[in-house]
Amino acid sequence: MSEVQQQLPTDGTAALTERYGSVMMNAFGPPKAVFVRGEGCHLWDADGRKYLDMLSGLAVNGLGHAHPLVLSAITSQLSTLGHVSNFFATPAQIALAERLAGFTGTEARVFFSNSGSEANEAAFKITRLTGRTRIIAAEGSFHGRTMGSLAITHNPKYREPFAPLPGDVTFVPYGDAEALAAELDETVAAVVLEPIQGENGIVTPPAGYLDRARELAHAHGALLWLDEVQTGMGRTGEWLCHRPGGEGWAADLITIAKGLGNGFPVGACLATGPAADLVQPGQHGTTFGGNPVAAIAGMAVIATIERDDLLARARDLGDRLAAEITGWGLPLVSEVRGSGLLRGVVLAEPVAAQIADRALAEGFVINAPRPNVLRLAPPLVLSDAQLDGFLTALQGWLHHIGVPQENS
Ligand SMILES: *Cc1c(COP(=O)(O)O)cnc(C)c1O
Repeated sequence: MSEVQQQLPTDGTAALTERYGSVMMNAFGPPKAVFVRGEGCHLWDADGRKYLDMLSGLAVNGLGHAHPLVLSAITSQLSTLGHVSNFFATPAQIALAERLAGFTGTEARVFFSNSGSEANEAAFKITRLTGRTRIIAAEGSFHGRTMGSLAITHNPKYREPFAPLPGDVTFVPYGDAEALAAELDETVAAVVLEPIQGENGIVTPPAGYLDRARELAHAHGALLWLDEVQTGMGRTGEWLCHRPGGEGWAADLITIAKGLGNGFPVGACLATGPAADLVQPGQHGTTFGGNPVAAIAGMAVIATIERDDLLARARDLGDRLAAEITGWGLPLVSEVRGSGLLRGVVLAEPVAAQIADRALAEGFVINAPRPNVLRLAPPLVLSDAQLDGFLTALQGWLHHIGVPQENS
């Protein structure tokens, strides 16, 4: 433990929660736990309790916590070269950009950011450089909290306190190609969609929807912008969710972030085709984006996913998880949706938050993006035994929730 870490408070959960409440802005409400350490798929809280992380810091820690390869890559890069301004280039940044561009299967250019929202800000600004201003987004969408990414985020609760937001944005029902067709015209700069709507409860569109969206957008000279911040980088068992098996087309604009740095903040906006050449010097920038440490984190993630064949692992484990939960035939479970290790357990009653709280009390981290949806996004390195342990516990919660508790 470093000298500086030794200065950190060592109080228990109750005392730290109180200190948090006095000093932190109340953006997130009271914390559900205070974590002090993570290793592999486990976390430990300030009272020394151990948890299985089935959420991965919200689809971030695909390789779990303190992954040796990420750790050594970051620390060694930091002691070689930690940061220079974007007046200058670094080998790590170039190498990561080349790898990410490669995932598109075509020629692509990259702009690095520090977060998903910022990746979307870059994409939003690029759409303005088409000379058009209108954007079509989807109902139920989530694209981030900055003013631009919020403008294309649907939830009125997030948007309304901050109006006016950058315009002009039209929302259409997600998954409905005809509704999209009806709104498209020659004023539309871009159509922005998530390949799977994560925050909306792991909502998957009908087969062929993204293909149709692309056709429609292109027929009107508009860009197709896919927000893969949550779905990209192996989470759904693919580098990019919308290019299963690396086949097919790549969107004009693709944003990624969450899983890219395994917890080190790094995001990227990828652009293909004519969209790749829209940004000219001076039109966009960032101080930290793509610095060598962030870039090496991304390189380490890619190297580990390849070395350990984790795309296939995410697909297999995700399929097993979905099949087992569905196989229980519980009336409370309507459906398990999603792809790879981004899964939503859809419940027949709005008891998801109750179940997530119960899970936490029993040492499992999951969350409830909707009142009736549990989100499971475990590390791609989850073991079979860890999955089994979780499934056994989940089955118990699903059995007992809503049923009056006789004892306890
Ligand atoms: C999380 C998320 C974002 C925002 O990313 P931040 O890093 O929180 O800014 C944007 N789009 C999608 C689809 C996300 O899931």
